[in-house]
Amino acid sequence: MKCRECRAEMREAVTDFDLVWKGHAVTFHDVPALKCEKCGYTVYRSQVIDLMSDFVDAKIAANQEVPEVMTVEEAAAFLKVSEQTIYSLCKLGQIPSAKVGNQLRVLKQSLMDLLSNKPAPSATTATPATPATAPTEGSEGSRNGT
Ligand SMILES: [Zn+2]
Repeated sequence: MKCRECRAEMREAVTDFDLVWKGHAVTFHDVPALKCEKCGYTVYRSQVIDLMSDFVDAKIAANQEVPEVMTVEEAAAFLKVSEQTIYSLCKLGQIPSAKVGNQLRVLKQSLMDLLSNKPAPSATTATPATPATAPTEGSEGSRNGT
């Protein structure tokens, strides 16, 4: 690939990348890029940019005050569902929960597990009982003499 600025050949390089994303300044180190040796013009692949912005998005989301232990109200807000849904999911065992006093509490990790489609700990395995016994034929070998 040739430099857009000076038409010199561009080379694979790693650079630092300063990013301001939703008010957060982040510097990525060793970001793969194409860099012009002559003028220093740098091109980042769109996938790299996407990855970085996703990363920052995730970081910001993770940094938002999400308590490890949540009330039903917080869990509902976290999953963007109604509190009633949280109660039902707890009742069904989809979300492991504990009663502290008379208040229901759920762990953030349980909600994360639910989102990541991990199987719920409750045993809901229904294995059909199929008899695997083949009929044994006790046919006596009869010899036919000449
Ligand atoms: Zn150049």
